[in-house]
Amino acid sequence: MRIIPIIVLALLTSLLPGMPGRADLTSDTSAPLVAIKPELRAEIAALMPEGMTAYDIRVTIPDDDLALGQTIEGGQTVTYINVTGEPIDSLPFRLYANSIAALAPPLVINSAQIGGQDAPITYSVHDSVATVQLDQALAPGETVTIEMTFSLALPVDDPTHYGILNYDTDSRTAVMAHWYPVVAGRDPNTGWMLDPVSIFGDPIFTDAGLYTVTISAPSNQTLITSGVETERVDDSGRSTVTFEASPSRDFVIITSETLVSYETEVDGTTITSWTRPDNTGVSPQVATWTANALEVFNPLLGEYPWTQLQVIQAPIYSAAAVELPQMFIMGTSFYRQAADTGSYFEFTVAHEAVHMWFYSQVGNNQYAHAFIDEGLTNYLSADVYFRVMYGDEYGDATRQRFLVGDFRRMIEANADVIVDFPTDSFPTASAYVSAVYTKAPLGFATIHEAMGDEAFFASLQDYVTAFRFRVATPADLEAAFQHRTDVVIREIWSHWFERREGALDIRSGA
Ligand SMILES: [Zn+2]
Repeated sequence: MRIIPIIVLALLTSLLPGMPGRADLTSDTSAPLVAIKPELRAEIAALMPEGMTAYDIRVTIPDDDLALGQTIEGGQTVTYINVTGEPIDSLPFRLYANSIAALAPPLVINSAQIGGQDAPITYSVHDSVATVQLDQALAPGETVTIEMTFSLALPVDDPTHYGILNYDTDSRTAVMAHWYPVVAGRDPNTGWMLDPVSIFGDPIFTDAGLYTVTISAPSNQTLITSGVETERVDDSGRSTVTFEASPSRDFVIITSETLVSYETEVDGTTITSWTRPDNTGVSPQVATWTANALEVFNPLLGEYPWTQLQVIQAPIYSAAAVELPQMFIMGTSFYRQAADTGSYFEFTVAHEAVHMWFYSQVGNNQYAHAFIDEGLTNYLSADVYFRVMYGDEYGDATRQRFLVGDFRRMIEANADVIVDFPTDSFPTASAYVSAVYTKAPLGFATIHEAMGDEAFFASLQDYVTAFRFRVATPADLEAAFQHRTDVVIREIWSHWFERREGALDIRSGA
């Protein structure tokens, strides 16, 4: 998932084959893979699942100060191919902005049309599901094109959405995640994910798609997005800029009048660190840590395929940082601390960078099984990252500091949890955090130690290759490990993730 709740700080002190790819898929969509490194485009095109939804979005950022609560108007052409395997007569969209916590639904669909005719929409789940009635049944493999217009009342200085759907008046920066209607994500086991927007965890679950997004904005706004700029027209103080982001898990826009950039490059990926003007001193360090993470994990997990990765300073509420597609947001408070080696700051940067594999590339239903991305990500960033960067002694120390100490306190407090549990079904946010950020990583550490380096990382590469731009389940990850070892993974998996047996690990000195 995408969030390290701030509670963590308080506590601290034969593998499934990929679907056959189609090398000519890009020609179906007219969305070139310009966001992918040139030398990887053919490989990525061949790996992309068939039938990815294509979004062609137009959005207008108003001239007036967003602090005044101006509405942002958008429109999109959504080309959906029925990959459900059965005929459908309606298509559910998620309006994740409309969580139960929002005072009024910030995101409203104004119109939906198919073939020039209005398509009826039914709203449910606190207006976070908008089901569009199709004009006729859509057989498996058939395509429908939906034209939609929508309005977003961007919240201002609003903590409701962790800060990822918010205009910050202090830095005059707008963060727009889940700002448009997106086709509901599909869980391989249970189908359309239509649960209420998560309270404890990551709010967004999507299938990767093909994105062309054209933004019209005042020219004094810097546009930071999940995509790569391909076209720009500047006229009369406004800019119209087109971005391509294919394939991408989602599309996020950040506009700012104040953020300052610092760039570095690693393995063909440009890393851009964006900070407030008074925090530029920290920016090179943040960029370096991000570059370190790519250098550590490119060989271990398979090369990060996109040409860019951006790190943005922004106010985050009830979390430390949030991963987004080809970017992540670091909470403003980090930038006021010392940027020391081995700090919680460096750990968090590494954590979010690892999400570029386990979230951005391999999706999972984090409502149902948050631990397979969060737990794995937290293990790789709290332990493996530091071990590879600075040596085993360092890795031992950060594992102790970021994982084991919390786990010991959790067991001693008689607060053991079952890890593989639906996010919002945990009794408290603290129990959720303990499960996915503390106990789950130690389960993955145990699997790593049982398998050894070679088999463990080979299995993770298999997993990334097979489920890149798809949605994986816990069984898929377990099978990936089992495929590469004679160790009985089920026993370790069940002990750590499906039972409350943590006291045994404390006694054996985990
Ligand atoms: Zn995370």
